[in-house]
Amino acid sequence: MTTRWLFADQLGPQFLDAPDQQVLLVESRAVFRRRRFHRAKAHLLLSALRHRALELGDQAVFLQVDTYDEALRQVGDGPLSVVQPTSYAADRFVRSRGFEVVPEGRGFATTREAFSGWVAGRKRLLMEDFYRWQRVRFGVLMDGDEPTGGQWNLDHDNREPPPKRRTLGLEEPWLPGEDDVDGQVREDLDRWVRDGLVSFVGDDAPRWAPATRWEALARLDHFVEHRLADFGPTEDAMLGADPWMAHSALSPAMNLGLLHPLEAVHAAEQAYREGRAPLNSVEGYVRQVIGWREYIWSVYWHFPEDYRDRNVLAADSDLPEWFRTLDADEQVTANCLSSVLRDLRERGWVHHIPRLMVLGNYALQRGWNPRQLTAWFHEVFVDGYDWVMLPNVTGMSQHADGGLMTTKPYASGGAYINRMSDYCGGCAYDPKVRVGPTACPYTAGYWAFLERNAERLQDNRRMRQPLLGLGRLGDLDEVVAQERERGDAPP
Ligand SMILES: Cc1cc2nc3c(=O)[nH]c(=O)nc-3n(C[C@H](O)[C@H](O)[C@H](O)COP(=O)(O)OP(=O)(O)OC[C@H]3O[C@@H](n4cnc5c(N)ncnc54)[C@H](O)[C@@H]3O)c2cc1C
Ligand code: SF4
Repeated sequence: MTTRWLFADQLGPQFLDAPDQQVLLVESRAVFRRRRFHRAKAHLLLSALRHRALELGDQAVFLQVDTYDEALRQVGDGPLSVVQPTSYAADRFVRSRGFEVVPEGRGFATTREAFSGWVAGRKRLLMEDFYRWQRVRFGVLMDGDEPTGGQWNLDHDNREPPPKRRTLGLEEPWLPGEDDVDGQVREDLDRWVRDGLVSFVGDDAPRWAPATRWEALARLDHFVEHRLADFGPTEDAMLGADPWMAHSALSPAMNLGLLHPLEAVHAAEQAYREGRAPLNSVEGYVRQVIGWREYIWSVYWHFPEDYRDRNVLAADSDLPEWFRTLDADEQVTANCLSSVLRDLRERGWVHHIPRLMVLGNYALQRGWNPRQLTAWFHEVFVDGYDWVMLPNVTGMSQHADGGLMTTKPYASGGAYINRMSDYCGGCAYDPKVRVGPTACPYTAGYWAFLERNAERLQDNRRMRQPLLGLGRLGDLDEVVAQERERGDAPP
């Protein structure tokens, strides 16, 4: 059996062919020099890698070096094998070195081959169709050939506005305690920053994301027991004082390979079968994991690598520095954006609606460059990796691919944020106003976005109504002039 080189997102037991396989682990500092990551992300990656090295003991060679090349020089010529890496760049690297590559990505339930089989002969790659196929082939929430409860999609019971309370009142996600490994990571990061080798954004808060398999399982058990039941109805809702809502906060662990998606899905289904969680919440969660996550992973490889250069809306503005650095909540008046930036600075994580409808929506409206935005998301989210950011940001959030993933751009005004959150109540702007000092930057920005892109979107059937609305707007010139003046200043 060859020595298995495990990358930092391949840390669970399923990445080994046998429990006693020899392992190579490499901690490369150059990775952190290339980009300005969130400090919590750098901490998590180093902590997870070092914890895995400790667990494996003599079974692993653990090298702390500057570059991968330096590590490879140290290990010499012995044969190495790797599990399919999760990015095009890493894939090219391992193939150029002639390593044996185990073809299936073991952090996922869908192989590239299986997805190609599903795609064959299809005109459209609808997530809903993919998700049903996953349910059937893995036998998840199925009673014979029928979906449990008779329906595939229980969205009509989910995605409700938030309750009229400050928080959902649920227990917080299970939190790991830091140990000596984390202490050493913190010291090393401080030293590298002091020596000018690296720089980070975001707070150096106590680590909240699981760094070991044991911690990942503890978070999963706690989620299923205490939070899953409330997942569905509030999955799209936002409350300023409750950043977690009923979300699992398991994406960092899953993306590190510490937890297999089918483990999470089976635990959720068991809770339903035992009467501990209702079907709508369990279906909603299962849809996210074996639907969305697997779909995103599969389309990353299905689309050509130049997908990252798509920019059909010709969005060419640079990301402003106040947005990049995450410490602009004091300068930003818009309550939704200010709160989300603060949460992101504190944890390197917010749930999917702030990502899509607050951060992504704002960037889309302002015409910020999708490639820069994708890189930014990758750097500041603890769960961000190339495979997951590229389709989610370039495709889903910015519509830069012209509609390969979504039928219309996810642009929306303040009315959506007002309906799905409690942000607007405490805001100096009014979501219903589009001109003047109280004009909501999302509402006015929405119309300015439509005006700028009207020609590019005119053939999209789903944009017909919004474009008709644009034509009827009596104060459009004022809105556009106002938003041009606002430009990229903190709103
Ligand atoms: C613009 C944008 C950027 C995103 N970037 C990332 C990212 O870098 N990393 C990441 O893991 N997710 C990303 N997502 C998806 C989603 O926001 C996060 O997976 C989720 O918020 C993680 O929190 P959670 O574990 O509490 O999720 P839950 O709400 O509990 O959902 C359960 C699980 O479903 C999976 N999931 C759901 N949707 C997606 C999706 N679209 N893509 C991949 N996995 C999904 C995750 O593994 C998640 O843990 C992004 C979404 C958007 C709109
Ligand atoms: S009024 Fe507009 S800017 Fe203020 S919180 Fe609501 S959506 Fe955000």
